[in-house]
Amino acid sequence: MLSKYEVVIGLEVHAQLTTDTKIFCNCSTKFGNQPNSQTCPVCLGLPGALPVLNKKVVEYAIRTGLATDCRIAPRSIFARKNYFYPDLPKGYQISQFELPICEHGRLEIETGDGNRKTIGITRIHMEEDAGKLLHDSGEGSRVDLNRACTPLMEIVSEPDMRSADEAIAYLKKLHQIVVYLGVCDGNLEEGSFRCDANVSIRPWGQKEFGTRAELKNINSFRFIKQAIEYEVERQADILEEGGRIIQETRLFDTTSGTTRSMRGKEQAHDYRYFPDPDLVPVLVSAEWVEQSRKELPELPAAKIERFVQEYGIPRYDAEVLAAERATADYYDALVQLHGNGKLCSNWVMGELQRALNETNQNIAECPVPPQRLAGLLKRIDDNTISGKIAKQVFDAMWQSGQDADRIIEEQGLKQVTDLGAIEPIIDQILAANPGQVAEFRAGKDKLLGFFVGQAMKLTKGKANPAALNEILLKKLQQN
Ligand SMILES: [Zn+2]
Repeated sequence: MLSKYEVVIGLEVHAQLTTDTKIFCNCSTKFGNQPNSQTCPVCLGLPGALPVLNKKVVEYAIRTGLATDCRIAPRSIFARKNYFYPDLPKGYQISQFELPICEHGRLEIETGDGNRKTIGITRIHMEEDAGKLLHDSGEGSRVDLNRACTPLMEIVSEPDMRSADEAIAYLKKLHQIVVYLGVCDGNLEEGSFRCDANVSIRPWGQKEFGTRAELKNINSFRFIKQAIEYEVERQADILEEGGRIIQETRLFDTTSGTTRSMRGKEQAHDYRYFPDPDLVPVLVSAEWVEQSRKELPELPAAKIERFVQEYGIPRYDAEVLAAERATADYYDALVQLHGNGKLCSNWVMGELQRALNETNQNIAECPVPPQRLAGLLKRIDDNTISGKIAKQVFDAMWQSGQDADRIIEEQGLKQVTDLGAIEPIIDQILAANPGQVAEFRAGKDKLLGFFVGQAMKLTKGKANPAALNEILLKKLQQN
């Protein structure tokens, strides 16, 4: 039934900016402190207090606009969005309406079938957040205004997405970019990156959009996907039964996985926007924009290309490594020190990632920094240790924080390449297994693996595999 309809999705993302202070006052934006400990007359909305714009907020909005190919407005305006709610002390939210700071951008996403698709970005504007109501104290509701006036960016997309998967691909890409830029910490649980989804469906071939429902304030990729999928089915069911979709705002219930109506169009707010008389227009010079453009960090898409071109690694590896900036920085540093792009990517994506997962640690502060790992890889290159022993050394480095060389020395892990040392061990093995020797000589080649295994066991894995094979074959083929 779903295949009768085309899905149309537009997204509005609220990203909290990582400035130390709020957008219009000097109060701290730190999360999780004592309620109402980070307030002042400005963010409490006391009469006579005047807002002063935090320049960093403008800088962060410009950066995000540039990273998403937006046009940066030379002049933009703050407006008052009027509504009444207990967490909004002024009775209005300062936002941008007619003249936002960024417009006409785009973001390229990869769709499930490996194709690329461009999603339009309508606008990005700056605004302040509201406070927070706490309902669980058991003594009625209370209001915490620490969050009031913290800076947000609202990033509004065109209705260009055609499935929940495309919506998720867009959100993940956008999330990656704001985190790379350092303008948002991307913490979904703390609400630093949250999303409203406008969802509608229409029969295939129909030009006009169907009536849309707005799904409010979802802060996990998984829930957004669930909410959209549920909503699409709900709307299709209504149309199939000959009903009509009503324009409304709906809330996603994470427990039941369903959406329910929060308010209909007739209750929709009339925000009575008008320019805020307390704030002058925001003027951004061409020089400022150019300076910001120069200071943009290398973004994931460019990094992936560079890793593939310069370090010669598969695109898959490059995508995994570039997904997080800290991982990409680590990998970059490691390749600079060691040189072999593929060996480095294998270790970062393999042993290092495994150890990070197991110990729940952050790569930026892990106990084996790039210099140490490069030291270990050098010992594989020069045949001091085998790749297998290297994993053992790596674990010891992780535990002790020591260099590879010291661990190899102290634990006596040096590979035995000396033929004179390996030979007597092989003689011993052949003497102890006359049956297998006879079978091998009768043509059962697969038994070579058995002898290699025995020799590795006796040398505790330290025998150089090439040397071992050579002597084994020589001895077995004698007689
Ligand atoms: Zn304040």
